[in-house]
Amino acid sequence: MDRNLRAIDFAPLCLWYRGCARALPWRADTEPYHVWVSEVMLQQTRIETVIPYYARFLEALPTIESLAACPEDRLLKLWEGLGYYSRARNLRRAAQQIVAEYGGVFPHEPLQIRALPGIGEYTAGAVASICFGLPEPAVDGNVLRIAARLLELREPVTESRTKRKVTKMLRTVYMGCDAEAGAWVAPKPLCRDMPAKTGDNAKKLRLRVVRFMIKHHNTAKCRKSWHGKAVLYKRATLNRKKIAKTSYLPGVLTQALMELGETVCLPGAQPRCDLCPLHAECLAFANGTAGELPLRAPQRKKREAEITVLLLIARAAGAEKEDAAVNSAKTQGAERIAIRKRPNTGLLAGLWEFPNTEGALTQKQASAFAKSLGVRPVSVRKGSSHIHTFTHIKWKMRSYEIECEAPIENELPIDREAPECDRDETTESTTLLWVEPEALRRDHALPTAFRKLL
Ligand code: SF4
Repeated sequence: MDRNLRAIDFAPLCLWYRGCARALPWRADTEPYHVWVSEVMLQQTRIETVIPYYARFLEALPTIESLAACPEDRLLKLWEGLGYYSRARNLRRAAQQIVAEYGGVFPHEPLQIRALPGIGEYTAGAVASICFGLPEPAVDGNVLRIAARLLELREPVTESRTKRKVTKMLRTVYMGCDAEAGAWVAPKPLCRDMPAKTGDNAKKLRLRVVRFMIKHHNTAKCRKSWHGKAVLYKRATLNRKKIAKTSYLPGVLTQALMELGETVCLPGAQPRCDLCPLHAECLAFANGTAGELPLRAPQRKKREAEITVLLLIARAAGAEKEDAAVNSAKTQGAERIAIRKRPNTGLLAGLWEFPNTEGALTQKQASAFAKSLGVRPVSVRKGSSHIHTFTHIKWKMRSYEIECEAPIENELPIDREAPECDRDETTESTTLLWVEPEALRRDHALPTAFRKLL
């Protein structure tokens, strides 16, 4: 790779962002809590999906303190449908840590932000640059794609070596160390309380400071002297090109790159290069290779598992089964439906599920499985089926709707001696909870994989 991101002038991108950015709810302010929640929600999830969740979440939990104090069941219910539920748990753990260690104030130091549960390099970079104006890049798939195209990078962006390389290059852009790219001016909080130094040759000083910052950035050694170096760097660069002084703040660059990746430099053969503020700098555009980039290492095939799910429905004595055409949900008209809690570790940990087992059970086997759960089936019929894909596994799910005899008592113990069905101890809890459909919708976090069967 001959070219470096440092050689690219990102000022037009930042100006474009200021003029063309979409009005998204989390862009209304730079409150760290808001930016943090939005960045976590946006991991692996589309913007359109996140918008209503974000509004609901902040309405229910408007402060870090309220998130820290939120019971897990309520938190998971707020997160229901977003997937990757460990994100929600980590949010709460991080909030509790912020309350305990920083008095409820989001930490300002990159190392402190990075040390919070569930905050990786990307989220830390996004919060540090957007909220605190720190020169911390946030490198995700979008940024890697843009970098790969700008530089016509022929290395798989899925490899961590490539990501490290792009991050390192981008960090130098954030530092404003390229003379042509415009000056980065350290935001005020960094300069507070620092002694002034005079008498240095500005050019020499700038180079020395920049080298130091790049070399020691994010290390313990740098933490002590970071503020001082930032002051020196600010002084050394004050008289440089002014064009980017306001349009080149780290937070603007971070958001401009995000926006470009989401709206213009689209994946596959879809880039809208004619609208791109960087097309004059882009090697892939110049050489017509944008559609081929970025390169990716071949993906490992996901494991596939057959899962049989039981929709155990108990109706009140004498209640008539309602016409399916009238009812959108198959459980409507039912008194109660059985759910149970998943174990606290592993896939979909701690969430609710319909009783299920691995394997493609026949109708007869499904009935036997239901009996083994302590219920008395009255009728069994095939329900819907679908495929649900997780990060590492694909579930081929089939379901049976099983009408059961009343009465029902909550928390029926599973008959552990029951024959005819294999049970995986790591994926099943020992009790059933019978809930009305309305209560299920309102109070219990049911993963999308199961909700789709209703
Ligand atoms: Fe992406 Fe095209 Fe812009 Fe290059 S010119 S960064 S390929 S949108």
